[in-house]
Amino acid sequence: MFKVVHKDGDARLGIFETPTGRIETPSYVVVATNGYIRAIELDDIPKTQTQIVIANTYHLWRSLGDVGLNDFPGLHDFMEFGGLIMTDSGGFQVFSMGVARETGVGKVFSENPISPKDSSQVKITDSGVYFYEDGEEHYLDAEISIKIQEQLGADIIFAFDEPSSPLHDRAYTETAMKRTHAWALRSLEAKTSNQKIYGIIQGGHFRDLRKQSAEYIGSLPFDGFAIGGSFGNSFGGEKDNTLDEISWANPYLPENKPRHLLGIGRIEDIFEAIELGIDTMDCVIPTREARHGGIWSRYGRIDILKGIYQKDDSFLTENCECYICNEKGITKSALHSLFKEKKLEAGRLATIHNIYFFNDLLRQIREAIKQNRFKIFKKWYLN
Ligand SMILES: [Zn+2]
Repeated sequence: MFKVVHKDGDARLGIFETPTGRIETPSYVVVATNGYIRAIELDDIPKTQTQIVIANTYHLWRSLGDVGLNDFPGLHDFMEFGGLIMTDSGGFQVFSMGVARETGVGKVFSENPISPKDSSQVKITDSGVYFYEDGEEHYLDAEISIKIQEQLGADIIFAFDEPSSPLHDRAYTETAMKRTHAWALRSLEAKTSNQKIYGIIQGGHFRDLRKQSAEYIGSLPFDGFAIGGSFGNSFGGEKDNTLDEISWANPYLPENKPRHLLGIGRIEDIFEAIELGIDTMDCVIPTREARHGGIWSRYGRIDILKGIYQKDDSFLTENCECYICNEKGITKSALHSLFKEKKLEAGRLATIHNIYFFNDLLRQIREAIKQNRFKIFKKWYLN
């Protein structure tokens, strides 16, 4: 399914062979939580250079229900999308509806204030997880997650896991990691389809736990691996960079299998992750920001709602070849007006541009790796 065809330092150029063609990595994975990319239409997807999307098992399970899942045509037909499709395992909701909700702290420590928000909606046991939503209880475990992911029919599915929070101490992080390891085995055993399955490495911000997790998960017959859980905590002073967790795990993973970074994707993170040998990463940044007027340009994120863009007739970013900039000729002032008038079209145009922008950055990164100038390109781009 996947091979590494070239390396520039630890940065890898890889190829996924799919039924509809080849997909080069590194590649950005666009989030399609409910089986669609929010704010855009199905026939907008080809305008964005999107090669890979990830849909959310928990949300699709809740919205389709057991009956809907039985009749589900599969995500490729549902999305009319011929690229690669991934589904996560529902593990992220164990975190987002649990400890993240309870503490107000997300997976990247430095970005979030510590402020308790609400009570947890999950109860975690060794066998599985109970979710409490809308007055109902829903139970998910490794076997159920795999069955749902088989019904959803993505190309790549994930083992069920328990991500830990940056606030968890070593003892709890180890408990969650061991549960994740047990659920990894159960996920492998439960799978009856020929879909590819990734194992997830946990271990939080503890170097020895990340190593242990990568050694164990890396020894299992998974088709690929994902690095999950929390990042960016400097407890213990072992870290130089936000994503050091990747460099703690990667040496213990098989070289010839794909590596995915779960839920991380700021521009600096993309470069750092790829430099450390990550092949794909998913994040809501391009799509979520777009819906709120956050536009990505060569000089960073701009807030298109700001008054200075009211009379700015330049394009969203220079030399952008996306459908919005290049074919429709939408300028900053035009998009500013659409957002001010609260037109639905505003979110659509911004989303198409942003996804194209991120995918095009990844295309440029692949070119740089091919030409052995990744580090030079990284330095120039970030400057
Ligand atoms: Zn554009």
